[in-house]
Amino acid sequence: MMKRIAILGSTGSIGKQALEVVANHPDDFAVEILTAKSNFKLLIEQAARFHPSTVVISDVIHLDTVKRALSSLPVTVLGGQEALEDVVTGERVDMVLAAMVGFAGLLPVVRAIKAGKQIALANKETLVVAGELVTALAREYQVDLLPVDSEHSAIFQCLKGEQHAEIEKVYITASGGPFRNLDAVILAEVTRHEALKHPTWNMGAKISIDSATLMNKGLEVIEARWLFNLRPDQIDVIVHPQSIVHSLVQYCDGSIKAQLGLPDMRLPILYAMSYPKRLNSLFPRFHFPDYPNLTFEAPDPARFPNLSIALGAMRRGGNMPCVMNAANEVAVDAFLHDRTGFYGMTEIIEKTIRQATFLQEAGLTDYIESDREARIIAQSFV
Ligand code: NAD
Ligand code: MG
Repeated sequence: MMKRIAILGSTGSIGKQALEVVANHPDDFAVEILTAKSNFKLLIEQAARFHPSTVVISDVIHLDTVKRALSSLPVTVLGGQEALEDVVTGERVDMVLAAMVGFAGLLPVVRAIKAGKQIALANKETLVVAGELVTALAREYQVDLLPVDSEHSAIFQCLKGEQHAEIEKVYITASGGPFRNLDAVILAEVTRHEALKHPTWNMGAKISIDSATLMNKGLEVIEARWLFNLRPDQIDVIVHPQSIVHSLVQYCDGSIKAQLGLPDMRLPILYAMSYPKRLNSLFPRFHFPDYPNLTFEAPDPARFPNLSIALGAMRRGGNMPCVMNAANEVAVDAFLHDRTGFYGMTEIIEKTIRQATFLQEAGLTDYIESDREARIIAQSFV
């Protein structure tokens, strides 16, 4: 059966690779909706090629341009954030691929779950901010939250056929980012250009900076906690610079299962989209002689304090991961605009956490308010 997919954030790194997957499997997938924030040029090209029934451009200043460019095609063109939240509920949508970046993913994902859509989740911030709420909703509406993040796809695959009670712990692998071997004095001076050059993955700007600070791993631990219903003490991070072992699960008998593959996001994207089936692919295969050494080491919390900050926020619970996420989004944006340094990001996050209102219990409106408040506070430290 053909799956009709809404790709939110189709002009981004994950979105573009998802469209490659669709193009490779025309009998299995069709594009129902494409959305972008501001890259109208690419959105227009994608719409002309993949024939969605609707496209949404969030930045309404580009709405007329997109409408004009697509006027000869049978496609509805909408603008604005609300349209983005509405279109995911469309009757013809079977699956929503959440591939936008940041807190902006939360509300569309919540709407899609409530409309009973299957979710392929790349947007990890949704689970960082409101993991308890979102996973509870998914259970209530009997919707699968299918991980696209490579580590979580690995864990998901390792858990197949196993009992939840028999999981002892999960190891999330980290490449270590572009600065794995730099000492703190040099790290303090790195530029955004250096930070954007990831050794094993080619990704969007925000996640590339998060990978350089190891905040990305912190976000992923929180993501895993909710996605797989784990206690914080059941999750460990292990640095594996080759990015071949995508994560591991250890069971109560001491046995460890791992999932391996070349670092290629099209693989976890394809698995989430085709689940519960596997489809044939022509992606390059892993070749053992190319990787004589697969190495593993502990992360260094002294040089990469953002990882510990994220783990602390997870243990504190409530709205703390939401506050931390908002502060991190502001800090990363500041770093990308040369307005703060590598450890300046850490400072912005720590100060915001100290100043923001802490809520032990939080609902959707609390998260929206916490995100707003934390952004204002964080901005005052930039
Ligand atoms: P990206 O910056 O390359 O693309 C982001 C996409 O979302 C773009 O299409 C953009 O137009 C859209 N977008 C951005 N802000 C938006 C907003 N406020 N409202 C609506 N749309 C918006 O990002 P990416 O690297 O593709 O990452 C997307 C998500 O997937 C992130 O949450 C990231 O953590 C996660 N992820 C990415 C990778 C990867 O390899 N790139 C791997 C694992 C997880
Ligand atoms: Mg990942």
